[in-house]
Amino acid sequence: MVVVVDKNLPQIKLESIIDELNRFGFDVHKSTGEKYIILGALGVQPGFDIRKIKMLEGVVDVFRITEPYKLASKRFKAEKTIVKVNDIEIGGEEIIVIAGPCSVENENQIMKLAEVVKKSGAKILRGGAFKPRTSPYSFQGLGEEGLKLLRQAGDKVGLSVITEIIEPSHFELIEKYTDIFQVGSRNMYNYPLLKLLGTSKKPVMLKRGMSATIDEWLMSAEYILAGGNPNVILCERGIRTFETTLRNTFDVSAIVTAQEKTHLPVCADPSHAIGYRDKIIPMARAAVAAGTDALMVEVHHDPDNALSDGPQALLPEQLEQLMIQIKEIAKVIGRKI
Ligand code: PEP
Ligand code: MN
Repeated sequence: MVVVVDKNLPQIKLESIIDELNRFGFDVHKSTGEKYIILGALGVQPGFDIRKIKMLEGVVDVFRITEPYKLASKRFKAEKTIVKVNDIEIGGEEIIVIAGPCSVENENQIMKLAEVVKKSGAKILRGGAFKPRTSPYSFQGLGEEGLKLLRQAGDKVGLSVITEIIEPSHFELIEKYTDIFQVGSRNMYNYPLLKLLGTSKKPVMLKRGMSATIDEWLMSAEYILAGGNPNVILCERGIRTFETTLRNTFDVSAIVTAQEKTHLPVCADPSHAIGYRDKIIPMARAAVAAGTDALMVEVHHDPDNALSDGPQALLPEQLEQLMIQIKEIAKVIGRKI
């Protein structure tokens, strides 16, 4: 249920509305908009008569949110969420580019790529230290050493960093090093992990599960929001369909649909969606044209010898090309890069 309250209502009266909602058994999440304060009253109280709240002083409107997700819904918060990462804003006018290797492999590799990424104009450096590999025999990441190297590389060139968390026991360790947590496609349904990330002050980029519907994806975001962390970025990374020519099917329409349903910023990851370097640039252009708030791509200076996802890694000169092209597209739709 959403309770719309007059923004000029004295604090003490606002608190009494919140107390009243608590008394009826609701958990209350507050969001302050331009004209109104929106109270999300969470919890199921069958047969609850919303007039009990409508009558209270300062309450402008009360309505039920019919979507299964509440805090993620635009009906709870109409204004777009801007996720702040150091001096970067994701969800604003600027489209933020995130680039880097699939995995941090060694110091030389990540330093070199941090320079490539910085030079390209991208704002965030990616690199996995704990890798969720399909095969247990594949490279699993450097662990803490990888986190340290990623942080050092980001700090050296002046880039924020993002890395993936694959299990709850790594939470404190990763939180120490990263600016943004990445939850991978394979972990979108890992509810204990999502609940834990709800307790963090750091932003979380939540990738869409490879077979998840948009509503399931938003329900996973809801876990993080309900835990108290409002800084969630959604990431479309391709879904499994009957089509097997490419690694996945890039659901460009999900960018638009997710933005219609939620106030959360949306990122697009054509690298994992497509899986082949020669098709990443056109699909990145499509994502920007569709209105993505951020774009994540993999890049490697020696992809033939990369320890993971070499075939989909852009070469450094391709990343430069990509940046030049998407800057032009961004202008056409009133955004900038
Ligand atoms: C990755 O970003 O390297 C990754 C493993 O992505 P996904 O979870 O989308 O497969
Ligand atoms: Mn990868």
